[in-house]
Amino acid sequence: MREFLRAAGTERAGRLVALTFDDGYENFLYDAVPILERYGFSATVFVVGGMMGAENSWDERPRMKLLGKEGVREAAKRGMEVGAHGMSHVKLAGLPPARLEEEVGESRRVLGEVLDEPVEGFCYPYGSLDRDATRAARQAGYYYACACWTRTESSIYDLPRPPVWEMDGSLMLAAKLKLFPKYFEVAGSSTQNAVEELGGLAYGGAKYITRALSKR
Ligand SMILES: [Zn+2]
Repeated sequence: MREFLRAAGTERAGRLVALTFDDGYENFLYDAVPILERYGFSATVFVVGGMMGAENSWDERPRMKLLGKEGVREAAKRGMEVGAHGMSHVKLAGLPPARLEEEVGESRRVLGEVLDEPVEGFCYPYGSLDRDATRAARQAGYYYACACWTRTESSIYDLPRPPVWEMDGSLMLAAKLKLFPKYFEVAGSSTQNAVEELGGLAYGGAKYITRALSKR
């Protein structure tokens, strides 16, 4: 994202694609980074500041290991951008101000200490945000923040991203890339919130079916 945003407005921008990986799982470092390196790509990984070295306890299953501080540092050393993804992976929309400030501000501080450099990017867990959340990201000193389907101010603090999941094939990816920009031309904010919720449900359902099939 960092590289992509710095190139914005230049000739190079049209040829760039920004890849982001949420949550900071160990498999980002061990599986994704070697492939990215092979193709000469960088990417941004959004790390949950208060859960480094733990597991994704916010998901039912599958439980996966999250990068520890050393792993986070190694990803940065290998050219990946590290951004923040809150302290505990909670939905930020509607959070009380003090808790919101802690999730957004503290994760920037904690990761900044681990990396020994300022953290530029933030990513809203579950793509859940409201006006207070974008304000908190701006006030915490982030340079940009990533959303998914919900945008409240259409600025650099709620950049849209089409989610890509492990069960998506190349056709689905092509369809998402084609339809995603059009979605924001027609959908109002209430539709955007509804789609975000539905997307979460569909994702949970699809994961369940994939698991059930793989057990057979
Ligand atoms: Zn996440």
